[in-house]
Amino acid sequence: MEQRPLWSGADAAPAKAPTTRGSRAVRTSGVKSRRELSEPAAAATVRAEVSTPVLASIAVGRPVRGEFTYTLPDELAGRLEPGQRVLVPFGRGTALGFYLGPASPPTGEKVRLKAVQRVLEDSPSLPKDLIALLRFAAVHYRYPLGEVIRGALPPGLSKAVEEKEARPDVQHFAVALVNEVPPELSRAPAQSAALAYLLAVGGSAPLEEVAHAIPGARETLKKLATRGFARLEEKTVEASVKEGLIQGRPDHLTPEQDAAGVVLRAALDAATFQPFLLHGVTGSGKTEVYLRAAEHALSLGKGSLILVPEIALTPQLVGRFRSRFGAEVAVLHSALKDRERLFHWQALRRGDVKIAVGVRSAVFAPVDNLGLIVVDEEHDPSFKQEEKLRYQARDLAVVRGKQAGAVVVLGSATPALETLENVKRGRYQLLELKHRVDDRPMPTIELVDLRVERPREGVVTEEAPILSPPLLAAMAETIGRGQQVILFLNRRGHSTVLLCEVCGLSLKCSECDVCLTHHRSQNRVVCHYCGLAMPVPEQCLECTGPMLKLGIGTERVEAEVLERIPTARVARLDRDSASSAERLTEMLASFARRELDVLVGTQMVAKGHDFPGVTLVCVVMADTSLSIPDFRAAERTFHLLTQVSGRAGRGKDPGRVLVQTYNPDAEPVRRVLAHDFDGFANQELEWRKALAYPPYSRMAAVRLEGEHPEQTASVARSLGNLVSRHMPPASAGVRMLGPALAPISRIRGKTRWQLLLKGPTHTALAPLLARLEAALVDVPSTVKVVIDVDPGAML
Ligand code: ADP
Ligand code: ZN
Repeated sequence: MEQRPLWSGADAAPAKAPTTRGSRAVRTSGVKSRRELSEPAAAATVRAEVSTPVLASIAVGRPVRGEFTYTLPDELAGRLEPGQRVLVPFGRGTALGFYLGPASPPTGEKVRLKAVQRVLEDSPSLPKDLIALLRFAAVHYRYPLGEVIRGALPPGLSKAVEEKEARPDVQHFAVALVNEVPPELSRAPAQSAALAYLLAVGGSAPLEEVAHAIPGARETLKKLATRGFARLEEKTVEASVKEGLIQGRPDHLTPEQDAAGVVLRAALDAATFQPFLLHGVTGSGKTEVYLRAAEHALSLGKGSLILVPEIALTPQLVGRFRSRFGAEVAVLHSALKDRERLFHWQALRRGDVKIAVGVRSAVFAPVDNLGLIVVDEEHDPSFKQEEKLRYQARDLAVVRGKQAGAVVVLGSATPALETLENVKRGRYQLLELKHRVDDRPMPTIELVDLRVERPREGVVTEEAPILSPPLLAAMAETIGRGQQVILFLNRRGHSTVLLCEVCGLSLKCSECDVCLTHHRSQNRVVCHYCGLAMPVPEQCLECTGPMLKLGIGTERVEAEVLERIPTARVARLDRDSASSAERLTEMLASFARRELDVLVGTQMVAKGHDFPGVTLVCVVMADTSLSIPDFRAAERTFHLLTQVSGRAGRGKDPGRVLVQTYNPDAEPVRRVLAHDFDGFANQELEWRKALAYPPYSRMAAVRLEGEHPEQTASVARSLGNLVSRHMPPASAGVRMLGPALAPISRIRGKTRWQLLLKGPTHTALAPLLARLEAALVDVPSTVKVVIDVDPGAML
């Protein structure tokens, strides 16, 4: 059949008939026949005659959709278990395959099937419940199953090689033996630099890290060791838990913790799927509820999976699990080395280690005999993966719990509206912690109207200040009492906009549709989307007019604090200053040890930190995230403000929050001031319902990125036409938004378009997505199109 190219507005290309593409493996299921996935034909074995080969359904670790049928050689027949890795012929070579179960004989065209060549391991890499989860993910997020499986496995198992036993990694550390750089090193600059580095990072660091910072440091450190200024040692790698963060087991639970615990224990005893929302205000002791539940699961011989947004930002939670369960915990973070990843995978699969604490990808961790899944800070956007398999780990955690018959606890002080709606519909049971531990009061939250409390008044500086008089007074007072302050602003850099005073042109990235941010410490302007950096222009590039530095970032706030309160010990926590996980942990630990008075930072300071010394939290500007063109902007603002406020007053002293804003009437700001989560949620839910946004609809985004603006636009339009032509009747409630240029219309020189689909259910969207997916084969390679089911950020 002749197919005209799609981008010229031709008829849609039908889904291609399954082909073998050079391999004589036959696709047992493809885009159109998902049903087969759930029931690998057991009939095949029944019907098999003596001469008929035994057929196996295999997912191939290549970017091809569906499952493939292979024959099993005699020595393998009846010996394979689902989840075992095998080597199969594919195309002109071989490929890694995953045995999924018996297959039914292919119908239609007569083909000679190829045989599985070899088994790569004695026992399956993938436990059964994980196969079910990965199959669900492949179907739901429309991603090739073999790639889904490969992506979930540790590197040691995702290649077509035999499985090897992994040993824990040994890391080399340098430890300083002196407290300052001794004078006799003044003539050895390399040695003094290496030692100074060690001292600066708290006295000890991995050799690798020092060598990365100071070239040649390995040799230098050896010299320092022979001179007695440092010691080199080997340590078995464990996720770093810094001293001072480890905590004991509280003797008494609060009544609310206790009540939640009773319900969770009963659920664990019942050993069936039961999802819960643990809605606990900040500082209510949610972690202790997780810990007790995991203890109970362990006493029943069951494993637990704890998902957190980011390990480096939650060392306290990890520390609590570590100090409670010791070696029973595998900590899975993104900075693990290949060997460590494999080591943990094997230990969990064997059941040697029963608890996994990890980031979103840990939703695929092979925890044996899974009894409990916890998703902490379940509202956090980082649970959504924004590349390859675009999954939402919180959603998959619930699916996994259902498949494994496990108890699922989603915990947050600010649950996502999607989760809240599931409670309202009776799908999830609600557990509430309405009070802080020890009946500590919630912080008082006060508004500072920047239109009234002008930071500029009476100040003569080149740059417009942003800290208002009441804020500065509160800071000085708090520091004076020996307590600590957190300053939050969700933008990094010094100035976020450079604008010509004469022609009004703002300095934009040449590759992206965004303004360049001035980073004063680097003395450069930087693009936060593509990383492009250049010297700060002295004058407008168009008209040579003088440049105004507008828009405030954390770097400028830090400078202003130092200028206005010179005695304060200030540090900044953002992606620029916390460039490595070690650095980040060290900064948080140093703040916890009260070596700092003020921590200025982006949303990184708003996470679940528990610093008892913090009694004042200042939101430098509450408006920054309100204007983002995303239907979740208000929700996100509300979450951030509530979360960061929750860092105040967690110790014995009460907390105070000051929120600076130019928009005191904005809904999220008003509701945060009133501690009114329910009010905010109800209002926002009404709005979502009126506009049929999630949770009252399901969405899928089709995202396009192309080198040529016209071609990309034309592909976007023809995909739009395709959807329009196949739109179900209006009664089905499916709607299309766009196609339109994405809010950020260009990144890295690529033009971006998007098309959004909304429907009452996933089932309602599925036929359209299948058509789109089939049509993608004909899109020119210069335009990249991905389907993003349940999209997160709308930018
Ligand atoms: P959340 O995650 O709900 O904001 P955390 O779990 O961080 O709160 O707990 C807040 C603080 O209270 C932590 O320092 C924790 O160790 C402490 N804590 C929790 N439960 C208890 C308890 N029952 N008795 C005393 N302290 C507790
Ligand atoms: Zn850029």
